[in-house]
Amino acid sequence: MAGLSVHSVLVTGANRGIGLGLVQHFLRMPKPPQWIFAGCRDPKGQRAQELQNLASKHPNIINIPLEVSDPASIKAAAAKVGEHLGGSGLNLLINNAGIAKLKSLDMETLEDMSEVYTTNTIGPLLMAQAFLPLLKKAAQGSPGSGLSCSKAAIINISSIAGSISSFFGWDMVQATSYRCSKAALNMLSKCQSLAYKEHGILCVALHPGWVQTDLGPPTTVDDSVQGMLKVLSTLSEKETGTFLDWEGNVIPW
Ligand code: NDP
Repeated sequence: MAGLSVHSVLVTGANRGIGLGLVQHFLRMPKPPQWIFAGCRDPKGQRAQELQNLASKHPNIINIPLEVSDPASIKAAAAKVGEHLGGSGLNLLINNAGIAKLKSLDMETLEDMSEVYTTNTIGPLLMAQAFLPLLKKAAQGSPGSGLSCSKAAIINISSIAGSISSFFGWDMVQATSYRCSKAALNMLSKCQSLAYKEHGILCVALHPGWVQTDLGPPTTVDDSVQGMLKVLSTLSEKETGTFLDWEGNVIPW
């Protein structure tokens, strides 16, 4: 991971699944970040036990209460992260938190569509808006004119299920609310890449593979996270605004 060297990272949904895997892999880097902000809905709750144990052993992990569908929670999290960082910026924002409703098209409801869209699409939008000043600060504080994840980046964890042209897994699961939310997240990633390029911030949508977590089976979390971090270490302005998978392949929109 020689190419990825970040002073600070924030991962949303960091208490389990891929988010927790990301925190663990950041810790194992030869030069771990000085600050790993672990966003979690209920940092003191049962589902955050593993994260609490990690944080008690590693002072560079800061558990941040964060509900990505709640603007007030996001605002409070940004203030808390800013306090810890003092005068420096945030290099990497990983919008990982997500939910899926594995229903057939006929069974989708207004409530499901709204809840999934709010979490998976509006959450990353509001997160990026709230953390923009800190991301800009990181970009300004890094030498060089190019874009990179070591400088400043927004990584939106998307899904190949949101790819309109590949239409992965329809026979297995329809999950229309999830597919629509990730297709919209892909568009958001493109819009962010266009708007934030001038601020020196790289933005991509990243599919983590089909991973064994509460959301689904068969790549392991370790393989997925290792692959994604390797991809992040190679990204430059050439890739901003693209949709990639955990092995660095371009996914059709
Ligand atoms: P998990 O269900 O294992 O974990 C989801 C995480 O998101 C949990 O930490 C959960 O917190 C958090 N979360 C959910 N809703 C919110 C919210 N409103 N605010 C804050 N945190 C929230 O999922 P995965 O680790 O499998 O998935 C992570 C990301 O990867 C998601 O965006 C998913 O769509 C994507 N992905 C996953 C694939 C897979 O095969 N697993 C495939 C393709 C994409 P809590 O414990 O409080 O519920």
